[in-house]
Amino acid sequence: MQAYTDTADVGHFINGQRTLGQGDRTQAIYNPATGQAARQLRLAGPEDVEAVVAAAAAAFPAWANTPAPRRARVMFKFLALMNAHLDELAAIITAEHGKVFSDAQGELARGIDIIEFACGIPQLLKGDYTEQVATGLDNWTMRQPLGVVAGITPFNFPAMVPCWMFPLAIASGNCFILKPSERDPSVSLRIAELLREAGLPDGVFNVLQGDKQAVDALLTHPDVQAVSFVGSTPIARSIYERGAQHGKRVQALGGAKNHMVVMPDADLNQAVDALIGSAYGAAGERCMAVSVAVLVGDAADRIVPILAERARTLKVSHGMDPQAEMGPVITQEALERIRGYLDIGLAEGAQLVHDGRDLCVPGHEDGFFIGGSLFDHVTPDMRIYQEEIFGPVLACVRAPDIDAAIRIINEHSFGNGVACFTRDGHAAREFARRIQVGMVGINVPIPVPMAWHGFGGWKNSLFGDMHVYGEEGVRFYTRQKSVMQRWPDSEAKGAEFAFPTH
Ligand code: NAD
Repeated sequence: MQAYTDTADVGHFINGQRTLGQGDRTQAIYNPATGQAARQLRLAGPEDVEAVVAAAAAAFPAWANTPAPRRARVMFKFLALMNAHLDELAAIITAEHGKVFSDAQGELARGIDIIEFACGIPQLLKGDYTEQVATGLDNWTMRQPLGVVAGITPFNFPAMVPCWMFPLAIASGNCFILKPSERDPSVSLRIAELLREAGLPDGVFNVLQGDKQAVDALLTHPDVQAVSFVGSTPIARSIYERGAQHGKRVQALGGAKNHMVVMPDADLNQAVDALIGSAYGAAGERCMAVSVAVLVGDAADRIVPILAERARTLKVSHGMDPQAEMGPVITQEALERIRGYLDIGLAEGAQLVHDGRDLCVPGHEDGFFIGGSLFDHVTPDMRIYQEEIFGPVLACVRAPDIDAAIRIINEHSFGNGVACFTRDGHAAREFARRIQVGMVGINVPIPVPMAWHGFGGWKNSLFGDMHVYGEEGVRFYTRQKSVMQRWPDSEAKGAEFAFPTH
């Protein structure tokens, strides 16, 4: 597979066309594996925001009026195109994000799951009907699209997270504005072109590149009806509050600190594989990455030495190296933040069993690389336990029993994902029932729900009341209308003055 080598400036996709827009600010897009700026991103100015909202608003009436089966047919064609172009899209992701190529393919595959789900939109939009709620009176409900909706997405899944949003939004009849991360914005433009090739009318799907300025303008724009956000917790909270103040529907998914409990009876080899893959895969830059291992009883002494050896021998390289298990992190700034957390952990008294800071990737000395790091004897009062590091750092916390493990996890401010490895079905069942976390894995380290189940955490990991994708995704992008219908016979009954009853 050839590396992605486009060097042209990256702009927007508005009303079916690529455009560099009117904004006069730019920002470098880096290749994290080389540490070099590869191209420049044009950040949207106010005129670009106006242009994109106007294009989406103009496209809405006809698209909303298009029969759902016809909208589904566009999604079926788009699905085929996404599968046909999967490797091309994965190479774009690897070039800008840095994750290994097979992981980029995996991200796309999980995004494509949601497109498949959106192909069933006629079934998903089906309403309810109750005949004869009173004599001659029927009551039925329908779900109708909202209008122009926006999605603001993070760097870590530049294709999958947008796919959590736009397939259901547009299949439901809305027009969508995607504001991708500034770090890896190019794959969204290619996706926009594939949607157009699939027959999507111009203006129904748009990409607006930008930063806080563009986001603020979308959040306050009177013609934007709803905002889906995925990113860090402080921004998620402020998007939720700001959007609500401006009368928008908002779902805002935030950060995470995901725990994996290892019970003493667990299959340790499976638990080690699960911890290594989920802590260090994508350099720990996954919202469902496991960043805390809660080791119960004597599991700790048995597992930590094996984890340390596996962390030491991780194959870290650029993402197009077929041997690579882990690539670079996203930016120099992220690299420094992660290194800083290793200093913080040491100062707090945690034991740094393996330090990834010495890593060197030959030929990529300027890349944003750090090896997998492992802390033991981490306690809940430490910052390295409480805060999201978002890098390849695994913290081991020791707990005497499952009750203590559950208590520790339930007291954490985040509640995105969690896992429990055990052979005891009763312990697993109790764990799933009592844990205060939105997505639970039993002997599954990264329990990302399937397309028809919906994704979302609890506590500081989600602001709003609806999860993304699944049936809640359809509900988020539509509003219910209830119709009471009577076709009276011609005989007059006279006016009714009391509130109607059955
Ligand atoms: P981020 O919060 O920095 O950025 C996310 C989006 O918000 C980007 O599009 C960015 O341009 C925009 N943004 C940034 N600062 C803003 C501001 N001040 N005002 C308005 N918009 C702003 O997040 P990131 O670094 O791109 O992504 C990593 C974070 O996303 C991690 O915290 C990770 O846990 C989280 N994440 C969560 C989930 C989930 O499902 N809960 C999934 C993926 C990532």
